[in-house]
Amino acid sequence: MARYTGPSCRLCRRENTELFLKGERCYTDKCAIKRRNYPPGQHGQGRSKTSDYGVQLREKQKVRRIYGILENQFRGYFERADRLKGVTGENLLFLLERRLDNIVYRLGFASSRIEARQLVRHGHFTLNGRKVTIPSIQVKTGDIVELREKSRKVASISESLEAVVRRGIPQWLELDKGAFKGSVKTLPVREDITMPIQEQLIVELYSK
Ligand code: SF4
Repeated sequence: MARYTGPSCRLCRRENTELFLKGERCYTDKCAIKRRNYPPGQHGQGRSKTSDYGVQLREKQKVRRIYGILENQFRGYFERADRLKGVTGENLLFLLERRLDNIVYRLGFASSRIEARQLVRHGHFTLNGRKVTIPSIQVKTGDIVELREKSRKVASISESLEAVVRRGIPQWLELDKGAFKGSVKTLPVREDITMPIQEQLIVELYSK
């Protein structure tokens, strides 16, 4: 499936916010947003006015890029969120947060969602005791995500687990670092998603 393969930092600069796409580098002074906080490209510093549509579009692109979702798949999430009870925008974020690759990232097994997706695809984890390779699986309360025995010596995973303290683990998840295991204590609520997201703008965009 086609994926964006260009520079990750360019996406952050385009959205004018840190999307945390490059793991540990994002927490250092090397972060491109800290050094060049203006949109990329020849006219990056010249852009000014943005229409309502433009603002809504940028918000959708930002969320899509945070979770690394392609356009069609993202619309699919929106349609699903719209069919669920509750606030559509919040439902959308909850569906994205409950993806297995996001859980692997949030628990600290990977330093970015991109890395988490790759680890899941390569079969490094079990979900409730069964090997999984599908990053988009939706987790539910009580689910257990565990690093497989043979993967416990992978250096990048150990390093990520050491570094996760810096960004913290959301309260709806629980990590047993010694057992290489994490669990879903409860489903996320809006306050658990701390990135600066205005999901209502996405609802407005797709409702046109
Ligand atoms: Fe974004 Fe991370 Fe690059 Fe900073 S270092 S611009 S947060 S991807």
